[in-house]
Amino acid sequence: MITAVECVEYTGVRSAPGGVFADRLRRPADIYPDRRALGPEVFPPADRPDEVVVTSIALHIRTDDGLIGTTMQISAESAFLINSMLRPLLIGADPMASEYLWDLAYRSSIHGRRGAGMVALSAVDCALWDLRGQLLGQPVHRLLGGPTRDRIPAYASTLGDSLEPSAVRERSRELVAAGFSGVKWFPRWGPEDGRAGVDRVVELVAAAREGAGPQAEIMLDAWCSWDVEFTVRVARECQGLRLGWIEEPLLADNIDGYRTLRHRLPSEVQIAGGEHEYTRWGYQELLRSAVLDVHQPDPHWAGGISETWKILALIAAAGGTAVFHGQSMQCNSALSFASSPALVQQQEYLVRLMPLYQHFLAEPVVPVDGYLRAPTRPGLGMALDESAVRSRRIL
Ligand SMILES: [Mg+2]
Repeated sequence: MITAVECVEYTGVRSAPGGVFADRLRRPADIYPDRRALGPEVFPPADRPDEVVVTSIALHIRTDDGLIGTTMQISAESAFLINSMLRPLLIGADPMASEYLWDLAYRSSIHGRRGAGMVALSAVDCALWDLRGQLLGQPVHRLLGGPTRDRIPAYASTLGDSLEPSAVRERSRELVAAGFSGVKWFPRWGPEDGRAGVDRVVELVAAAREGAGPQAEIMLDAWCSWDVEFTVRVARECQGLRLGWIEEPLLADNIDGYRTLRHRLPSEVQIAGGEHEYTRWGYQELLRSAVLDVHQPDPHWAGGISETWKILALIAAAGGTAVFHGQSMQCNSALSFASSPALVQQQEYLVRLMPLYQHFLAEPVVPVDGYLRAPTRPGLGMALDESAVRSRRIL
């Protein structure tokens, strides 16, 4: 029986000589000059100049038999919604009945069908899967029917890295040498930069290709921040550089824009997206529009592991492929290792951010020689590293 639902903010200190981020990605609001002028996110300084303060809010769901199911990296707004709306539904409930609890929460928060409400429900569902795995003494991918394989190749995402061509070349070389199957870059230029912006993106892809060599995949993530013309020009001018996919070139709601892109992009450039879509119903509409080649549902946003498993079935039935998006290597590994290799071929690893996201975990999930191994710990493996915790605050 669930006895407590707690949102706890953990604070710690991490070595970060030169800061955490060297550059930032482009964002949709960068159409406004004052937004575009903003620099990369700065972490609060710690006592020593080469250290920064890191915080992470965790959801803990406790049971009467002493188990704790955990989701890390939830937002303050999720914590508020969990405390105010979802906790009353959970206290006293059977933690094994995650399907019942999902349906109950969904029907009880009618404005929670998308966005912040669904993100809060996602956190609860992931924590319940962590609990369920601990109750049964099995890693979550085993409860879903995995493992489908021993290891999965990872590609590297460089969010926060310097976008100077020489740095891009060197970083791409280093990541491919470390075994990653490909490298994804996040340009900070867009339509307002005009001709020069296209040139900077092409220069970035060329530098990445030079560093990564001929075999590795090179991808771009435009984070919903380009328009049709800019995307077409980038894709055309990257011909010969074997650009793998362009991720979220347009805002997620601009489905007609994506349709236009489908017709106008060179056939070898794939379109990836879907991290900002929610639930089986949202995904069904997205799949009907048939605008994406690579689907990237995020279990921390789309409705938890339960809902992402359903979304995955829809993607499979539509003949698509998936790479899970998100801040949780644990949730993504649980789903990936339970999926057919024909459906989920790789996993993403954010090289700068994942160490931060996993700062408070005793056993962070990290690729070795470019591969992730099937998890072995019961649940999602969310045990805390108490030595990393400087302070905690119940929200
Ligand atoms: Mg993305």
